[in-house]
Amino acid sequence: MDLSTPIEKIPRIGPAYQKRLKRLGIKTVENLIYHFPHRYDDFSNLIPIAKAEIGGPFCFQGEILEVKNIRTFRKRMILTRAVLGDETGKLTVIWFNQPYLVTTFRKGDYVCLAGKIVKKESSIYLSNPAYEKIPAGLSQNSELTHTGRLIPVYPETEGLSSRWLRFIVKPILQKLKNQLLDPLPETIIKERNFPPLREAIWQIHFPDSLEEAKEAKKRFAFEELFILSLFIFRERLKLAREKAIAIPINLDLIKEFVESLPFKLTDAQKKSAWQILKDLAKSRPMNRLLEGDVGSGKTVVAAMAALNVAKAGYQVVFMAPTEILAKQHYKTINDILKKFNLNIGLITGKENYYKGPEGQAYGAGKKISRRELLEKLKNDELDILIGTHALIQEGIKFKKLVFVIVDEQHRFGVEQRARLCQPIRDRGGTGQGQSLIPHLLSMTATPIPRTLSLTIYGDLDLSIIDELPKGRKKIVTKIIRPKNKKETYDFIRQQVKEGRQVFVICPRIEPRTTVACGTGQASQQTLSWMEVKAVKEEYEKLSKNIFPDLKVAMLHGKMKTEEKEKVMKSFKNRKIDILVSTSVVEVGVDIPNATVMLIEGSEKFGLAQLHQFRGRVGRSEYQSYCFLFTDTPGIAVSRRLRALISCENGFELAEKDLQIRGPGDFFGQRQWGIPDLAMASLTDTFLVAQAREEAKKILEKDPELKKYPLLKEKVEKFRERIHLE
Ligand code: ADP
Ligand code: MG
Repeated sequence: MDLSTPIEKIPRIGPAYQKRLKRLGIKTVENLIYHFPHRYDDFSNLIPIAKAEIGGPFCFQGEILEVKNIRTFRKRMILTRAVLGDETGKLTVIWFNQPYLVTTFRKGDYVCLAGKIVKKESSIYLSNPAYEKIPAGLSQNSELTHTGRLIPVYPETEGLSSRWLRFIVKPILQKLKNQLLDPLPETIIKERNFPPLREAIWQIHFPDSLEEAKEAKKRFAFEELFILSLFIFRERLKLAREKAIAIPINLDLIKEFVESLPFKLTDAQKKSAWQILKDLAKSRPMNRLLEGDVGSGKTVVAAMAALNVAKAGYQVVFMAPTEILAKQHYKTINDILKKFNLNIGLITGKENYYKGPEGQAYGAGKKISRRELLEKLKNDELDILIGTHALIQEGIKFKKLVFVIVDEQHRFGVEQRARLCQPIRDRGGTGQGQSLIPHLLSMTATPIPRTLSLTIYGDLDLSIIDELPKGRKKIVTKIIRPKNKKETYDFIRQQVKEGRQVFVICPRIEPRTTVACGTGQASQQTLSWMEVKAVKEEYEKLSKNIFPDLKVAMLHGKMKTEEKEKVMKSFKNRKIDILVSTSVVEVGVDIPNATVMLIEGSEKFGLAQLHQFRGRVGRSEYQSYCFLFTDTPGIAVSRRLRALISCENGFELAEKDLQIRGPGDFFGQRQWGIPDLAMASLTDTFLVAQAREEAKKILEKDPELKKYPLLKEKVEKFRERIHLE
């Protein structure tokens, strides 16, 4: 057995467990021993029974004097009741709903039990303790696994307990730990005073003290951040060596474009556009992220760059995560580039559109077949092609693709983006048959806290639109307690009477177990079904009881694309007054006539996400409102929600969110594929800076990591996990 051994080959792990482990992303021995505990139970306080008092946790060692199951009639529960005895006395022990324990223990077994002593009614007992039989010849408590020491508690998934993980991991570690080779260079270990791998890996699972666990954790956090930094620096070096077609900035064209707009660009838009245009003018591929709050006007900026490229005689693609968004972009881009006589196409799984220069056939834009569209692509009659995933399907070949724009980039996988950014051969011109990589612009409305963007992008290729267009009215944000619901509904009815429209967001359904590690696919499925249920209930309530006179519709992730599309279309065309939806659908859709955003169970969302919901209203001259419904108006909740009222800047909110909830929560669902520990350490600016510094230092001397094969391997493996550009 070594690190690469697949879990299938580990004795004692049957098919059912293999499946569950895979749900946690664990496929090999290496994954298994790198699945770290997220906390420890301190069961090291071993005392004689005579010294027991209410509270704990305490740990007792003694003999099982009796054990039996008792059925409680009132609560229909099975209790396993045992009596533990040592030299000093006897203690009642009760386990709930684990009837099999009666066969686990025999009278006379010598055991170690750890848990809390409670007093209920008149009885005092050890409640639901962790247990283990004491092996013959035990010389030290540190040889125990589940009791008598600091006990690791792991991120779990259904049917996979920490107890089971300990049982599997411990023997593997005992066997392997002395063969493990440390990927961290020795100099770093010495200089930074980190424990070496062999020691650290044991201490993070089965620590002698919390202090040692902390040291080990820090070491692994550093390791992950270090590898992340190496990966990012190396990617950047690689990209810097690649070639792309340089598109000079056509100043007259840009000026004409800016003057043709019905509004004045904000300074932040101008600055971002300029950064992008300058990147495009270089002969190495751009890789830039354009970040800006919902409604900050990213599309115009992208359109300006697209215009510059298209007019230079090259092709641009613009990929969006949903059909609704792709169509919206098709419309917007056609609108704002109208006077520039370009060929613009839309490709989605369902329908395709095409618009040629004004005044000619197709000038007004029309629906065409996929075949016709591909024909146009082949005949060089497409300057800008907008679309969904359909863009990366077989048979779609670009000849002169130079610029790729990806909207809501986090909704796509690395693979999908990579497929769009395939190198093209330069036919004559610049580089004589050389491979040329398209320039890539990714856009996102998720404001990334500075700490994170510093780690990921080093602030180099990041454009930020941090101001909203002038004249936007401030959105009135209010926290609504249950007792004020009615008047809020009355207010909403009034808004609808005045012709406005309303979004209602249903509460996010949370996984029952709060684990640091995501919930795995199976439960993710159940979760989304639970969300659907929540939406349906809310829809019933609103359409039948509260607004029977208004047109209410719903939208959720389990609906067919066409259905969703139909609903969105009706909403856009004002045939629906109130749209009830889950939190997951259709970010970025532009409905200027909607002025109310009502969020049920608002305390379940992060600040950054609430801020994004709020950004869907306030896009017109009408005053807009955001109502945060909450049933649990605790002080902490209020403080969090109040931050939303006082703060309108998405970046500030993201930073606050990061501080309050931690990065794991902030990014939910492992959006970026960054390892948990690295993620959790991103708030440790000092450690982050150290890791970056060391990574830089090592790459300066040895850019190919020739002297560090182990490290190189780790960095390369990292590529498979990470979702960054
Ligand atoms: P997002 O950044 O969320 O993608 P959009 O690009 O969809 O935002 O822009 C939101 C709305 O703001 C659009 O209707 C757009 O026409 C408008 N808009 C963009 N820039 C400006 C500006 N500088 N002044 C006024 N309105 C603008
Ligand atoms: Mg957008």
